[in-house]
Amino acid sequence: MNPTTLAPAAPIPITRLDQADPALLEELLEVVARVAAKGAFTMGHELEAFEEEFAAYCETGHAAGVSSGTEALVLALRALEIGPGDEVVVPTNSFIATSEAVSLVGATPRLVDVDPRSHLLTADALESAIGPRTRCVIPVHLMGSTADMAPLLEVARRAGLRVVEDCAQAHGARYRGRRVGTFGDFGCFSFYPTKNLGAWGDGGAIVSGDAELANRVKLLRSHGEEPRYHHRIVGTTARLDALQAALLRVKLRRLDAWNDARRRLGATLREGLADTSLELPGAAGADGGDHVYHLFVVRSARREALRTFLGERGVATAVHYPFPIHRTGAYTDLGLGAGSLPVAERLAEQICTLPLFPSMSEDETARVIEAVRDFDMEAT
Ligand SMILES: *Cc1c(COP(=O)(O)O)cnc(C)c1O
Repeated sequence: MNPTTLAPAAPIPITRLDQADPALLEELLEVVARVAAKGAFTMGHELEAFEEEFAAYCETGHAAGVSSGTEALVLALRALEIGPGDEVVVPTNSFIATSEAVSLVGATPRLVDVDPRSHLLTADALESAIGPRTRCVIPVHLMGSTADMAPLLEVARRAGLRVVEDCAQAHGARYRGRRVGTFGDFGCFSFYPTKNLGAWGDGGAIVSGDAELANRVKLLRSHGEEPRYHHRIVGTTARLDALQAALLRVKLRRLDAWNDARRRLGATLREGLADTSLELPGAAGADGGDHVYHLFVVRSARREALRTFLGERGVATAVHYPFPIHRTGAYTDLGLGAGSLPVAERLAEQICTLPLFPSMSEDETARVIEAVRDFDMEAT
């Protein structure tokens, strides 16, 4: 008899946050007490220290902490003076924020289809989308999988485009040895709680190798102010809180180990599911790229039946994302109807995210694999 049917095992969530790790939780609560005792909540030492440590982690010159991943993208575009009349190429298979940032600065997103295997933006798709008003491209390292940057950068360079990398799902991933975020003019990160590096609320960062561009972002995120009450340009309130910065400093020291755990779990799942009906995500380290498995996204022609079956077996699933950006209500104005970007539309109907998080146990991993195998058995 199957031992998992003897006693109902606890459901396996799609991800697990800090409260599941008592030692980490204690360390983080001490940090909260330290910041509260000082009463220094905006700008200051914790933010500057985090920025220095995050730039060093990304192996680049500069980092600016901001209030979210969306703001990171907005401020990057503003620093590059992209606005009304400009077009920015964005893959339609992404979280909506990638496109929203373009809209928020008054520019127009030029949404393009993705590669059916990698689910990511390709150089060919970029090249065919470039028009007289195209100023910039935002490659997205979606799911933790690195976009093939070399050909993208080559097309962008020839067309004179700016490059802003959306690294919100790929903190710490490497492409041909270098960290993501260091290939374009800017790399933009989100610290939304579920990301590979997550805060206790919203947060984000921008990295850049260019001191002048990084400084411009730092001016923009805090009212264009430098020094106090000298407002040089029109900015906004988009700072990373000192409390979040202090928490992120602790977690940053564990990020490489967490990503290693994610890569190991990704390899185990790929191996265990290799001969099933599912189409699996790529391997970490293939073709000079990387995969830090922010999300373990599989593809199934029977996605809804798979989700129901796994749900009944106590395996949580999700869909990232059920609608490509061009098919959301927010972007009906672009006039991209059903069938206009067919690869992403087909993906949205077939993709399914399985549980994968650094503290996932061997038993939990085995149960996910077994549940998928049983799903296949039942279908035959
Ligand atoms: C999470 C995310 C963002 C936005 O980050 P927020 O911090 O939620 O504003 C942008 N792009 C992608 C691909 C994301 O996953």
